[in-house]
Amino acid sequence: MAKQQAVARDTFEKVMLPIYAPADFVPVRGKGSRVWDQQGREYVDFAGGIAVTALGHCHPALVAALHEQGEKLWHVSNVFTNEPALRLAQKLIDATFAERVFFANSGAEANEAAFKLARYYASSKISPFKSKIIAFHHAFHGRTLFTVSVGGQPKYSDGFGPKPADIVHVPFNDLDAVRAVIDDHTCAVVLEPVQGEGGVMPATQSFLQGVRELCDRHQALLVFDEVQSGMGRTGKLFTYMHYGVTPDILTTAKALGGGFPISAMLTTHEIASAMQVGTHGTTYGGNPLACAVAEAALDVINTPEVMAGIEERHGLFVETLEKINTQYNIFTQVRGMGLLLGAELSPAYHGKARDILHAAASEGLMLLNAGPDILRFAPSLVIEFADIHEGMARLEKAIAKVVGSH
Ligand SMILES: *Cc1c(COP(=O)(O)O)cnc(C)c1O
Repeated sequence: MAKQQAVARDTFEKVMLPIYAPADFVPVRGKGSRVWDQQGREYVDFAGGIAVTALGHCHPALVAALHEQGEKLWHVSNVFTNEPALRLAQKLIDATFAERVFFANSGAEANEAAFKLARYYASSKISPFKSKIIAFHHAFHGRTLFTVSVGGQPKYSDGFGPKPADIVHVPFNDLDAVRAVIDDHTCAVVLEPVQGEGGVMPATQSFLQGVRELCDRHQALLVFDEVQSGMGRTGKLFTYMHYGVTPDILTTAKALGGGFPISAMLTTHEIASAMQVGTHGTTYGGNPLACAVAEAALDVINTPEVMAGIEERHGLFVETLEKINTQYNIFTQVRGMGLLLGAELSPAYHGKARDILHAAASEGLMLLNAGPDILRFAPSLVIEFADIHEGMARLEKAIAKVVGSH
C-alpha cells in the first residue's frame, strides 16, 4: 500500500465514525467515466457514485450551472422561494404525472416526506385509523428511523429503540402476499420498481399492475421509491414509464443533481392539498445552488439521444458480461434495466462480491455490489463505449484472479 494511502487509512480510522469500509485508494479527480487517485492511478468508473454521477464526473453543463449559480445566489431558505427551484419543479411536472413537488437533500428525506404525506393524507382526508404501510423484504428506502423501518432489512433498523408502528413487510413480486395484508386501514404501499440495494430486482408487470388495482380498491396510495431507478437510470426518465403504472407519490434523488445533493418528492395536486403551511419543511431543501445543477442535469438527461444511448450501452454491458461468463461460468444471471445491472454470482462464488470489487480496484475499475452475491453496475448514462470496453477488460482480469485463487 502506498504511503499516502496508509496515511489516509490511518486518518480515516482516527476521525470518522466507523460505519464505512472505504477502498484503500483515495479518488481526487474525475472526468467523464475516468477517476484518478492520490497516486495518479486511473480508474474506469462503473459505480457512478452509487447511481449518482449519471453524466459522469465534471460534465461541462453541470460545471457551468454550478459556476453560474455560485456567482449569483447560494441559499435563501424556504422563507423565500427562488428561481432555479421554480424552474426545476415545473420541468419535473412537465415530464411526469406530477402536479406538485417537494425538494429535499437526500433520498431518505424525500422518502420520509412521502411516508409522512401518505399518513397525513389518509388521516386528514379519509380516516384517523388509516395508517398501515405495506412494504417489501429487501427493500431499501434510506437511513432515517422511519425509512429504515419501512425498508425490508432488519439489520439496518434493529438496535435503535422502538420503531414507527403499523408497517408490514411481504415478499417482493408476490401479489397474493399483498392481497393478504392490504385492507381499508392501509394508507400506502411503498416499493422500488427495481429493487436496487436489495439485489437489482425489477418488478414484474403483473405485480405492479396488480398492486395499483389493490391500492385503488382500498383507497391506499401507491408510492414509488425511484431514488435509484429514476432520472434515466433504467432507460426512461422514470421507471414507472416502462410499466405504464402511475404512482400517487414518487421520490427521486441520487442522479437528480448528478453529484450535487438534492432529492424530490412528486405527487398530485389532490394529495398535496392535504398539507398546509408548516406541516412539513426543511432548511436546505430546494436551495438555488442544488436546483440549478439539477435543472442542468435534467435538461441533458431528458433528451431522446441520451435515452437511446442508455439502451445501446445496456446491450453492450449485457453482451460483454455474458461473454465473460461463457469463459468463467461465474454468474447465474445478468439482470436489470437500462444502466442499473446486476450480475448474480453462481453458488461457488457466493459471498465473494467484495473480493471481486477489491480485485477490480487493483485492476483500475470502480464497481459496486448489492449484497454479498451480486455485482452491481450503475455507470454514467453517457459513458463512452471505449470506457465500457476498457472497464470490462479490467473486470475480466479481476475475475480471472478471483477464479484462479478460488
Ligand atoms: C440510496 C437510496 C435511498 C437513500 O438515499 P440517501 O440519499 O442515501 O438518503 C433510498 N431509496 C433507494 C431506492 C435508494 O437506492
